[in-house]
Amino acid sequence: MSSKAIRTRFAPSPTGFMHIGNLRTALYAYLLAKSTGGQFIVRIEDTDQVRLVEGAVDVILKTLEMTKLDYDEGPVAGGPNGPYIQSERKDIYKKYAEELVEMGHAYYCFCSQERLQQLHDENGVGGYDRHCRDLSQEEIRQKLEAGEPYVIRQKIPLTGVTSYYDEVFGEISTENKEMQDQILLKADGYPTYNFAHVIDDHLMNVTHVVRGSEYLTSTPKYVLLYDAFGWERPHYVHLPLLMGQNEDGKVSKLSKRHGAVSFQDLVNMGYLPAAIVNYIALLGWCPKDTNKEIFSLDELKENFSIEGINKSPSVFDYEKLKWFNSEYIKMMSPEEFAEKTEPMLKEICPDHVDTRKLANLLHTRVSTLNEVTDMVGFIVSRLPMESDLYTNKKNKTTPELCRQILEEVKPLLENCGNWDNDTLFELLKAYAAESSRKVGAVMWAVRIAVARQAVTPGGATELMEVLGKEESLGRINQAIEEL
Ligand code: GLU
Repeated sequence: MSSKAIRTRFAPSPTGFMHIGNLRTALYAYLLAKSTGGQFIVRIEDTDQVRLVEGAVDVILKTLEMTKLDYDEGPVAGGPNGPYIQSERKDIYKKYAEELVEMGHAYYCFCSQERLQQLHDENGVGGYDRHCRDLSQEEIRQKLEAGEPYVIRQKIPLTGVTSYYDEVFGEISTENKEMQDQILLKADGYPTYNFAHVIDDHLMNVTHVVRGSEYLTSTPKYVLLYDAFGWERPHYVHLPLLMGQNEDGKVSKLSKRHGAVSFQDLVNMGYLPAAIVNYIALLGWCPKDTNKEIFSLDELKENFSIEGINKSPSVFDYEKLKWFNSEYIKMMSPEEFAEKTEPMLKEICPDHVDTRKLANLLHTRVSTLNEVTDMVGFIVSRLPMESDLYTNKKNKTTPELCRQILEEVKPLLENCGNWDNDTLFELLKAYAAESSRKVGAVMWAVRIAVARQAVTPGGATELMEVLGKEESLGRINQAIEEL
């Protein structure tokens, strides 16, 4: 192994959304570079012009920004090895493809679409029959002069075995006869992914290629290209598959049927970028000598190493992500939580509601930011209810007892000057003592009357504080009438 600084890259194709598997690849590439003081590069692989999606590059860059995966070189930031968008590097690839032809490791192929289609129909996906592999120099010259469209294909050796060492999966070998003479340069002059990424990784001095394991078996073709040019091969770090749990308990490749799979969707559902990053860091990597699960990005940088990457597939667990998210929400300061949730609360709550205090009540009780709005329906409006909610065994309450309590506390509350939790609590406690009733029973009656539902984020007096005096008394009056 050479001792030069580690340089990794994240090379997404702009598809319009960031799959969490891709984000995990970016994260591991970033961590590998940053855990060793190396550099992290971003390169956009957009040579498949047919599949271009508008705005897709912005989605990628925005995701990296939100997750704080800062890159040293890449689009916008620039750098000494740019451009970092493959379509802007189009001219670079042709020269290398022609060089390979000259060296005998690639060849011009003039086969028409019709011929290839016919082959495909006859042989299935079996692939190309190497028809143009042995054209004479003269034939090639004539066709090129006549302006016949062509592609350039890799000339894979017909015998032998090609092997490489993957840092996670170990030795990977493929019989050369199993490999296709894949296209390197397309008829439109654009390179294929197979070719472009090799050229770019070399020119950008990438030392470690970190990517999904779907490339594990095609990598022998890529190392043949490095060998043909006489270039040093990079280290390969293929990551385990990301799976999702199906309804029948089995697992399959993580996809939409398992739930949200894009970073943006998770954020829209109320997950925090830092919690997502923390969770996916552990989906395929394990820190050494610790059971710790909560890691900041800096801590991940300190702890990350290739040895901790697992080769068995990891299963994405939405419940576990929720747990991480609730831990991250709890770690927020009350101000930070309120800043994020108050705008949502303000939008749905009537003016009399103290949204700051409501946010404080919800802070330790939600696992996603969006749950905030799901939990406050009873604050937004008075819900229909049945009087049996007033019956509670532990506090020995009945609807009848609750009616008495409410009638008695009503004038006390009406005269209460300071409408805050502490004052209200003391007031109800003092009433309980004077009337020889259990505090629990008094609180139960009032809480059910003002909330009109059994489970609430906060007790009777906290809820009254949030609702304000007028609305709280309005609800108590309504409760007395209904009982
Ligand atoms: N553009 C490829 C993809 O998005 C990158 C694979 C690689 O990292 O080499 O799958």
